[in-house]
Amino acid sequence: MPYADVHSHIDLLGDVEGALKRAAHAGVAAVITNGIDPSSNRKSLELAKSNPIVRAAAGLYPTESAKLSEAEVAEEMAFFRANRDMLAAIGEIGLDYQELEDRIRQRQLFLRQVELAMKIGKPVIVHSRKAEADVVEALVSAGCRKVVMHCCMGSIKVVKRAVDAGFHFSIPALLSRSSHFKAVVNAVPSSLLLTETDAPFLSPVKGQPSEPAMVAGTVAAIADIKGLTAADCGNIIFSNYQRLFR
Ligand SMILES: [Zn+2]
Repeated sequence: MPYADVHSHIDLLGDVEGALKRAAHAGVAAVITNGIDPSSNRKSLELAKSNPIVRAAAGLYPTESAKLSEAEVAEEMAFFRANRDMLAAIGEIGLDYQELEDRIRQRQLFLRQVELAMKIGKPVIVHSRKAEADVVEALVSAGCRKVVMHCCMGSIKVVKRAVDAGFHFSIPALLSRSSHFKAVVNAVPSSLLLTETDAPFLSPVKGQPSEPAMVAGTVAAIADIKGLTAADCGNIIFSNYQRLFR
């Protein structure tokens, strides 16, 4: 049974090769590494070119996009377009009200990337912090349907609104320690669940970076909550990945 880590930043791992070996050994067949700025977007593409299980996503993260000039944003959008065949998704993009004050510009930059993703037929991998309801509302009004809500800390009410819109939820490896994510897994139908690590962040083990191999444990924990066998749960989640990231 193959696994997929749909949201990671493997360029930030100290030992990328070791982590990918351990991932392959654990049965991980796909790792989507996400860019957040021009330099990590290029790294994301390089990693995908040189590792068979790695796929690239590129995007401008809210805090990073805020630092760029209009010309730099336009250049990056042209870069996404030019490399569309290599991209599994546009991400990591989103809204962050904890880090940034300027909500109007954030929303503009977010929506520009969402519109581009829709135009080139790619899913978006979305970060939302203290902004979950606005993120869902912005995506629904844009008519965007291919959405991964990554590590969503929003209320179950907002989660349900996103489920109604057909959005997917990627569940981090710290699920086993988080009552919030247990509630999210309960609220989201199996057909909309995905697994992620956000490697090297959001580790379930204190003082140790998370890495893609950890999605195997997340699938087992989801299976428990959903009352499925680990094999059935893994197959459902992997086919969700395949359907969304064709
Ligand atoms: Zn991330």
